[in-house]
Amino acid sequence: MRSNQPQTIYLSEYKVPAYLVDHVDLRFELFEDGARVHSTLSVRRNPESSEDGAPLELDGDSLKLESVALDGAGLSASDYEDRGDQLVIASVPEQFELSVVTWIEPRNNTRLEGLYMSSGMFCTQCEAEGFRCITFFPDRPDVMARFRTRIEADKSSYPVLLSNGNDVDRGELDDGRHFVTWEDPFPKPCYLFALVAGDLVEKRDTFRTCSGRDIDLRMYVEPRNAEKCDHAMDSLKRSMRWDEEVYGREYDLDIFMIVAVDDFNMGAMENKGLNIFNSSCVLASQDTATDAAFQRIEAIVAHEYFHNWSGNRVTCRDWFQLSLKEGFTVFRDSQFSADMGSPTVKRIEDVTLLRTAQFAEDAGPMAHPVRPASYMEISNFYTLTIYEKGAEVVSMIHNLLGPEMFRKGSDLYFERHDGQAVTTDDFVRAMEDASGRDLSQFRLWYEQAGTPVLNVSDEFDQERGLYRLTIEQHIPDTPGQSNKKPQHIPFAVGLLGSRGEALPLILEAGEEHAPAERVLELTEASHTFEFHGISERPVPSLLRHFSAPVRVNYPWSREQLLFLMSHDPDGFNRWDAGQRLAVDVIQSLVGAAKDAAVEPRLVTSYRHLICDSSLDQALVAKMLQLPSEAYLIELADNADVPAIHRARERVLKHLAISLRDELVACYRRNFESGDYEITPEAIARRSLRNTALAWLLMINDEEGRELAFRQFRGADNMTDRMGALRALVNSDYGEDRNLALEEFYQQFREDPQVIEQWFSVQAASERAGQLPQIHALLEHPAFDWKNPNKVRSVVGAFAGQNLAAFHSPDGSGYDFLAEQVCRLDDSNPQIAARLVTPLTRWRKFAPAYRQRMQAALERVRDKAGLSRDVYEVVHKSLAD
Ligand SMILES: [Zn+2]
Repeated sequence: MRSNQPQTIYLSEYKVPAYLVDHVDLRFELFEDGARVHSTLSVRRNPESSEDGAPLELDGDSLKLESVALDGAGLSASDYEDRGDQLVIASVPEQFELSVVTWIEPRNNTRLEGLYMSSGMFCTQCEAEGFRCITFFPDRPDVMARFRTRIEADKSSYPVLLSNGNDVDRGELDDGRHFVTWEDPFPKPCYLFALVAGDLVEKRDTFRTCSGRDIDLRMYVEPRNAEKCDHAMDSLKRSMRWDEEVYGREYDLDIFMIVAVDDFNMGAMENKGLNIFNSSCVLASQDTATDAAFQRIEAIVAHEYFHNWSGNRVTCRDWFQLSLKEGFTVFRDSQFSADMGSPTVKRIEDVTLLRTAQFAEDAGPMAHPVRPASYMEISNFYTLTIYEKGAEVVSMIHNLLGPEMFRKGSDLYFERHDGQAVTTDDFVRAMEDASGRDLSQFRLWYEQAGTPVLNVSDEFDQERGLYRLTIEQHIPDTPGQSNKKPQHIPFAVGLLGSRGEALPLILEAGEEHAPAERVLELTEASHTFEFHGISERPVPSLLRHFSAPVRVNYPWSREQLLFLMSHDPDGFNRWDAGQRLAVDVIQSLVGAAKDAAVEPRLVTSYRHLICDSSLDQALVAKMLQLPSEAYLIELADNADVPAIHRARERVLKHLAISLRDELVACYRRNFESGDYEITPEAIARRSLRNTALAWLLMINDEEGRELAFRQFRGADNMTDRMGALRALVNSDYGEDRNLALEEFYQQFREDPQVIEQWFSVQAASERAGQLPQIHALLEHPAFDWKNPNKVRSVVGAFAGQNLAAFHSPDGSGYDFLAEQVCRLDDSNPQIAARLVTPLTRWRKFAPAYRQRMQAALERVRDKAGLSRDVYEVVHKSLAD
């Protein structure tokens, strides 16, 4: 186990590496009981390091050292020091070859970092610090080397042997063994190293690049998954084309490979030329994957592919710069998804995640800047702040510079830093140099944590025809940071007249051809803008397209929100007005008397959405989703979750009862029998009919129940089957629920990815996911503690989505989670540290809940031998 008092690592203490590695020669002998790793490093002193005569220090973790040789001469134990987590050689020449042999046990590696086994195959995960679990190495991203990798294994059990780059040699060995040698011509940090050995089937395709080179595309999956590769392969080809067209980036190797792995801590990993994916993020067929899964797969395939430039060719200097590659790449994959589908819907989805989960992180004990200043365990910093807020920061640069200047900036960035390990500051500087804009104040977005709050007020001067908008910004204190400076915020606005017309935004009297939308640049604590030529009080449309990741407070009346819902030319803001109205209505019912009335205008506006088929149906499908419980909790102080849950359910049921006939009609209108398609229109139709079904079953509607069963049994795709199953599971018809769950299980019991969905639909449901039922799921033969997807689909879904049960007033949900975190901490600390997150938000809740959550956290803290991963999260969240 790791030490009990983990060290904090600071950005301010960054030093260039004392030694560089130019070339790495690896030889893996893979056996059933372990693996012998022979590594030969070509090392030289770093001319940029001032540490003359520094000892050579190589990182290691859980390695059994067999031998060390320097320039071919074996070293004796007195020549080096094996500290367990470091191999230190006090005295080395300026330039030398170091050969190290280690023994590792992939079969016993339950942390899933380094080399491990999943469903009988060897695979790796090296980001962030997994390579040190394979061999001794300077495990830091600013040491970039060329890798040559020879893999040897039994040929019948492991016919496929893969690593990065191109395969340059292969052959037979004694005892039924064989080998393949791979050579990667591009220098890379060791976190991008990958190895796979297994009995896999290969799916092939090709892609011709813009310069006319043919790239060999290969997917490797277990034989049972052979029919589930097409969507990922098509997504890959679309991504490759898009990156050429939009960013001018061509693929560089001759082969691009994707491997699907069942046991994986993350979603996917961008190893150079050999991307490794969690099966659930790459395999799909109409019969087994929902629309959301299809879209997620397309986005993740694109994301990992885009990393080839934003991450691999240009990488991070140190892990504090993680958002350099992640924020930029998430921004790129969001642009890609918007181009492939509906841009407004994509924006709504991104902002929903950001406002629900990232804002909560920014307001919680683990709040950190996009470029953190310190960490204990870097695995804990693969966060929504690094990824999603990091993407918003890049998006704001895009807003400020405009698309052409932004492209010039990204071209300059790639050209200037190709083959280098750099910082977020280098990225911003490239944008400044290309555009001539000064982004010095903008850099605060990387340095200051917390979500800026904008308080907006307005004034109308009828006599002078002036409309004044005053925007005050304030950034809340976060752990270790207070008294923050104002940030540079692009704030997109429009003004609407009483008939819904867009008014010209005249900032200087007499200005002609003023635009109807402007991006105001906020740089001061308070900013006032005057609009001229306004003859009546307008309705402001603020922060269009969510032009910055901030909270906006403005005293909208319900009247104004209803007006924006039907008139705002910005689709995003139309949706947002609907969300604000629904939030306001639900909040007013939290703790209210049982017979308190539900706002009748909410019903009217939803009726209009359901019935007017001339509206953009993809947007309507989103507008009909009430704000989630998680979002309502995020907005509340002293949240009383059961009360919020009841208020939200009350509104849902009231809408369903009032609109019962309209919902049945909506269901029938959107029912279809044609071929399954993944277009925004078809996705919207499925979403609308499944929403209608869910609402009808909330009120135990007999016709809805029949429709649900008919759809459940007759569906030709997983979206409809799962939509019907979810509706039945959440209804009061207990027998129907059990029947549908059992039928579903029998149909898909052989497919682990579908069974994960089956677990999570129960664990996330208040009706099917009370604690005794959750315990039963954990005992189910298909459940597996060693598989992170299974853990997430039961324990994660319960604590993250089944909020009324998790926040049960007796604290049993908290105790349950604490117990599972402690149990997982020994085997897989990365997953344990992620799972504990809901408890770390304890300060957000009403006092009775708060105390119980705190007590549960303290029990985790007191566990003997707590991992560094969980230690950091728990200690930070309990700190004052
Ligand atoms: Zn990434």
